Amino acid sequence: MLGLMQSQPLLISSLIEFAERHHGSAEIVSRRVEGDLHRYTYKDAAKRSRQVANALDGLKIGFSERVATLAWNGYRHLELYYGVSGSGRVLHTVNPRLHPDQIVWITNHAEDQVLCFDMTFLPIVQAVHARCPTVKRWVALCDADKLPADSGIPNLVSYEAWIAGHATTYAWPMFDENTASSLCYTSGTTGNPKGVLYSHRSTILHAYAACLPDVMCLSARDSVLPVVPMFHVNAWGIPYSAAMTGCKLVFPGPALDGKSVYELIESEQVTFAAGVPTVWQMLLGHMKPNKLHFSVLNRTVIGGSACPPAMISAFKDDYGVSVLHGWGMTEMSPLGTVCTLKNSHLALSKDEQLKILSKQGRSFFGVDMKIVDSAGKELPWDGKTYGDLYVKGPWILREYFKDDGGDPLVEGWFPTGDVATIDTDAYMQITDRSKDVIKSGGEWISSIDIENIAVGHPAVAMAACIGVAHPKWDERPIIAVVKRPGMDVSREELLKFYEGKTAKWQIPDDVVFVDAIPLGATGKMLKTRLRAILKDYKLPV
Ligand code: ADP
Repeated sequence: MLGLMQSQPLLISSLIEFAERHHGSAEIVSRRVEGDLHRYTYKDAAKRSRQVANALDGLKIGFSERVATLAWNGYRHLELYYGVSGSGRVLHTVNPRLHPDQIVWITNHAEDQVLCFDMTFLPIVQAVHARCPTVKRWVALCDADKLPADSGIPNLVSYEAWIAGHATTYAWPMFDENTASSLCYTSGTTGNPKGVLYSHRSTILHAYAACLPDVMCLSARDSVLPVVPMFHVNAWGIPYSAAMTGCKLVFPGPALDGKSVYELIESEQVTFAAGVPTVWQMLLGHMKPNKLHFSVLNRTVIGGSACPPAMISAFKDDYGVSVLHGWGMTEMSPLGTVCTLKNSHLALSKDEQLKILSKQGRSFFGVDMKIVDSAGKELPWDGKTYGDLYVKGPWILREYFKDDGGDPLVEGWFPTGDVATIDTDAYMQITDRSKDVIKSGGEWISSIDIENIAVGHPAVAMAACIGVAHPKWDERPIIAVVKRPGMDVSREELLKFYEGKTAKWQIPDDVVFVDAIPLGATGKMLKTRLRAILKDYKLPV
């Protein structure tokens, strides 16, 4: 017997319709490439999303065909999120920080029909357009009078001119909720990027989960700043969760430096922000010397790479902001875990709470996880035993887009490539990417632990730990360190700083001072490149 409730597919168009009807006057504020702040409401966004849908119909872009963006976080990008997916096409968000050859590769692989770009990325488009034969229309996200006269790009139109002539009414189509909605490629540090194809259903379920109190706890009273880019896993789903809750949305555009982000947080009374540790490092680096404080910001999700405990303490102790340490992957839409305390932890000391809050956290309904040994046998949740982390759930990848690399799943579980422990309270802690873990004398050393200690030193701005071949121990850790401007620390002082903070055999064998640590397209430390840079390095004897 079937239940007797209404059957309505979970479609992305219903989010913007809902926001328009129930939160029509809630604000969306964007810093534009032009530098000014643009303000409008969900009602305006909904109207212009429908114009986008009509414009795509006008170009005869078919159902499930791909429309690409190369754009910062901003209102026009949001309109494309809804106009493209809502009308049944697939929004392909391209990461502009990728190498132009990779952009060409994924644009061809995705068979993008239209590519919409912010003017910042005009030089990229000029460099790649001739190698992207599937793209029949290039759209510059600007007013008609800002379009360069001699760009050399055929079929170039300004976004405003493109949508202007189209009706603001549109009947969003109804279709199967499992239909593809958007596409995001992993950064592919090894081999070609792989496409993760989200569905309407997976996106909406993920958006619901993101709003939960133990995840992002979003509400209509929040003012939300996604610093995490809309070109990287849909800004962790915030553009969807925002429409679901009717919170105010604040987009930083291209200005991601500490000063600009701080000013935006204050001027727009941001209560919740989300980003990777490197962005928050820039923000704190601006606030401390200028003795600044937040007036209403109360929490921030930090993830994408490990958030050092020193950053969690700095936010809480100096600024009264709770850090929610999160973990996820492109393949997971991306939310997998977020760290918040349970009732039983509330009476613990501050230090004991920090130990828990430094973990990557608990999964929430919709994500199941387990750790397994090399034979695939499930390992205990004791907080000590580490193993390969596997996940499953309705917003986790089943197969890569147009990929012939075989089934990525193992008995229905997705192997994350991370090594982790899970404790008795179900808190997961990442030890390392499996390819970054350091194997010393048969034991494993977590490069994340070694980095976290180094960045706890006041003179260290950034630190990356890698393993170096050793004749006796297989591998030994060394730490590459970027010093804070105007501050100093010696090799000996830093090695001494490790004493008592980790087991003796885990203390790095050496410190290498560097000007910068190479970062990948999503702001993560690129250890492959660091290893290449240090290839002639010899351990001290
Ligand atoms: P890409 O695969 O394109 O680099 P993803 O965002 O999909 O980008 O990367 C996912 C990986 O990032 C995870 O598998 C994990 O290794 C790392 N990661 C994400 N969040 C955290 C975190 N909080 N702590 C440690 N590692 C993290």
